Amino acid sequence: MAISEDVVIGIDIGTTSTKAVVFGERGRVLASHAVDYPIIQPHPGFAEQDPEELFAAVIQAVGAVTVRHGIRPQQVKAIGLSAAMHSMMALDKSGRPLTRLIIWADNRSVVQAERLLKEHHGLDIYRRTGTPIHPMSPLPKLLWLKEEEPDVFRQAHRFVSVKDYVLYRLYGDYVTDHSLASATGLFRLDTLDWDEDVLSLLGIGRERLPRLVPATHILQGMNKEWANKMGVSPDVPVVIGASDGVLANIGVGAVLPGEAAITIGTSGAVRTIATTPTTDEKGRTFCYALTPGYWVVGGPTNNGGILLRWLRDEFGAQEREVAKKLGVDPYDLLTKYAERVSPGAEGLVFLPFLSGERAPYWNANARGTFFGLGLHHKREHFIRAVMEGVCFSIVSVALAIRDVTGPMAEIRVSGGFAKSPFWRQMLSDMLGKPLIVPQTHEASALGAAAVALHALGEVPSLEMVKTWIDTTARHEPKEEHTLIYAELFDLYARLYERLKEEFDIIAAFQRRSGE
Ligand code: ADP
Repeated sequence: MAISEDVVIGIDIGTTSTKAVVFGERGRVLASHAVDYPIIQPHPGFAEQDPEELFAAVIQAVGAVTVRHGIRPQQVKAIGLSAAMHSMMALDKSGRPLTRLIIWADNRSVVQAERLLKEHHGLDIYRRTGTPIHPMSPLPKLLWLKEEEPDVFRQAHRFVSVKDYVLYRLYGDYVTDHSLASATGLFRLDTLDWDEDVLSLLGIGRERLPRLVPATHILQGMNKEWANKMGVSPDVPVVIGASDGVLANIGVGAVLPGEAAITIGTSGAVRTIATTPTTDEKGRTFCYALTPGYWVVGGPTNNGGILLRWLRDEFGAQEREVAKKLGVDPYDLLTKYAERVSPGAEGLVFLPFLSGERAPYWNANARGTFFGLGLHHKREHFIRAVMEGVCFSIVSVALAIRDVTGPMAEIRVSGGFAKSPFWRQMLSDMLGKPLIVPQTHEASALGAAAVALHALGEVPSLEMVKTWIDTTARHEPKEEHTLIYAELFDLYARLYERLKEEFDIIAAFQRRSGE
């Protein structure tokens, strides 16, 4: 259907796809198009993407929405950009890639991250930069490149993220926004500048990094060929925007200090807004920039919805078959089973660390554990225990954030898990807090579009986005459940501490047996 009104396009360069989302008045979604791409794993633990493919996906996604919906160049008021955090690649003198894009999921720099923590005052680096020292972030990745691919490291004229690369192709200029820079581990939160100590540790000068600009920075004068392919004017204001995580907060309406967003998709995250850069003495949480006076403090967990998917795929053949016959979602059958069991799964506690854990423990060796198993436990107890385990890990992150920023005023939930009212209620009970379910479509793209309008002066403050978003449901915690979960959460946290050393042993065993 042709769109005749003025629009803003939000582009979200994600891990599995790039989406171009067309927004009308008050953030109404008018159209969208996604272009998928794969993750390349040339070696175990590596996770890379083809930068050309990602650049082409941006052009195609925007081109598809403008052509399909008859959007003329003069209708596009602005374009706002969002991109996944922590990606890094090296470019030569003429801007040609010397490496693929190394993404957040890449674990090749485990050794470098450990060394940074032990030998280079990693906790101090974290406190200055807000990025936990972990292989996900560009800092240990750059150290890896220096040590393992010294020729490439030496030849590299610039080190850039995916968004910087796309902008270089479109404008011939190396720029990055404060938000993505604040997720590199190379950027000081207090001065909004590259951290000289980290740069000297890496042995690079700032001329090998992109120029830093705020999220509201406007680019114009796009390469005509690419503008033409996207169906936009070369002079359309392109607002650089921020990272996807930070923008998702805006896009779900968690925009004021203390307001929090919990997202559980494949992985999970808890994020809240702070007005000053805020880090944790113990290094458990991240702090990323958005705009001056606007910081996102939070923590990611590896173990979100992927656990229910694992249960469905490995043990849910029966549910999958029944679901197929009834034409329903197998997840809905699994959660129905879990509902038959009382909170606490009759004493079956699950530590959900199937792929290690990031916040709050930052322990790649942590592993999954069922604890308290008895003959009375049936299939439905396992399902419930897994769903509760995911919520325990979210609660552990939320508590770490509370220590850093204070109590959360309002919590908004989103992601695949939010499709299940039962799972949402479980989380509300466990947190002992009300939850709000916003009506969200493409939260990061909406956040990017909002920042774009803000940069143009059309949206006086990002808080206004809150009025654009309807609430679809609200959950109140049930006190009797909260008490049960409080007891089990203490047990969960103690079990983790007691098993920490045993996790190292079993992880080493697993690595040996995998060889
Ligand atoms: P991502 O795009 O990051 O994979 P999704 O929003 O697609 O995130 O969510 C995926 C996860 O959400 C699934 O693995 C599953 O755990 C959960 N999920 C999806 N649908 C349902 C549902 N109907 N009931 C319960 N959980 C669901």
